[in-house]
Amino acid sequence: MASGRRQKTIVVGAGPVGALAALYAAGRGNDVEVYELRGDLRDSSTVPLNFTKSINLALSERGINSMRKANAPGLLDAVLNDTIPMHGRMIHGKKHGKLFEEAQLYDAQGRFIRAADRAGLNKRLLDELNSMPNVKFFFHHKLVGADFKRNLAWFEVRSSSNSKETKEIEVSFDFLIGADGAHSAVRYHLMKYTRMSYHQEYIDTLWCEFHIPPLAPSDPNYSKYDGFALSPNHLHIWPGGSFMFIAIPSLDKSFTCTLFLPESRFSELDADHGALVPFFEKNFPGVVPDLISDSNLRTQYRENPHLPLISIKCSPYHYSSSAVILGDAAHAMVPFYGQGMNAGLEDVRVLYDVLDEHSVSSRASPEEVTVARGEALAAYSKTRHEDAATINDLALRNYEEMRDKVRSPVYLFRKMIEEK
Ligand code: FAD
Repeated sequence: MASGRRQKTIVVGAGPVGALAALYAAGRGNDVEVYELRGDLRDSSTVPLNFTKSINLALSERGINSMRKANAPGLLDAVLNDTIPMHGRMIHGKKHGKLFEEAQLYDAQGRFIRAADRAGLNKRLLDELNSMPNVKFFFHHKLVGADFKRNLAWFEVRSSSNSKETKEIEVSFDFLIGADGAHSAVRYHLMKYTRMSYHQEYIDTLWCEFHIPPLAPSDPNYSKYDGFALSPNHLHIWPGGSFMFIAIPSLDKSFTCTLFLPESRFSELDADHGALVPFFEKNFPGVVPDLISDSNLRTQYRENPHLPLISIKCSPYHYSSSAVILGDAAHAMVPFYGQGMNAGLEDVRVLYDVLDEHSVSSRASPEEVTVARGEALAAYSKTRHEDAATINDLALRNYEEMRDKVRSPVYLFRKMIEEK
């Protein structure tokens, strides 16, 4: 999009998707303003999303390619330097009273996914934006209203996270990108302007984060994996049938783990804390006390929140030429396919491919720019919805594979035949 006047793009939400969208918009010469409810993630006092230390997630080619196309030299290398290759999954269990591990490669050609720290990746993107003169940040700004016909948005402003005092400001824009997560306020206001079909579903599973510390140098197993308690190049799964425990490596040689369990089972463990360690011993052999001590397991279970998992589909994603939603705001998905953030980053690449295809000459009037953007957004909503909804469905389906089917020799045999 080009015109005599510089376009003003505002991005709501400075998560990974909003930050990448801001980078794409800034790279096209727009004046970019990023509005974020929380404080700056790079400030240690900012409470992380979901109130956990940080989610470790699987970064795949879908997300990597979207950062590659951001035209930000050095960004991708910096992000990838902070990741750990995961060549396959490692299934843990017990056979004939003995612990076993079974490695299952992700790809016969050796391609792999990477373990990345979500907060670390997000910070890299924010650092990149900081170096651009046409980008301004507004932290502690919460979107509370929007008029997509007059291109105005309203934000509640606090001086800090703890501050009780608020004031409201009005901001004008040419184009608004809503990347404000699963409970998107932009989406809520967009629904008043467009006939948006909307579907949301909470699955009957909660998740709780745990942490496996690195081994001490004095540990007899220290040299096996250079201080990691398990192989660092796998995504570790303890399948439990209707639940599972997983572990993803971190750069500090620890593992960030997640327990996925039906709500009723969480309630049973909540009611009887004494049942927690036996539950782990029975279902996730080798975790307690080898990787996490009994008392540590109990503390982490008690102190870390038990959080829900939401799946959202909606369509269309835009209104006229003025606004679009991306990432979790458009299609939050359950995490079992490891694609939520990756698909959100891909939204940005696909959106800007479509906008570029519809771009007009630098001598075009503001009206011509607006018409072209309207056409681009309509094309984006139409084409992107099918792909996003499919990834969403695959994510739901992959839960059954991870928690259960990975254990079945018949399933593994069939998969092997299919791959031949
Ligand atoms: P978010 O990360 O939610 O960011 C939204 C931002 O908007 C936040 O900073 C928020 O503060 C801000 N905001 C909210 N409301 C407002 C408002 N009104 N005004 C201004 N700002 C606002 N994905 C993967 O690709 N791979 C994985 O392996 C993976 N594993 C996961 C494991 C778990 C347990 C979970 C829960 C998720 C996982 N995901 C994974 C999904 C991934 O975390 C999300 O898809 C991703 O964070 C979405 O990014 P986003 O930028 O769209 O939204």
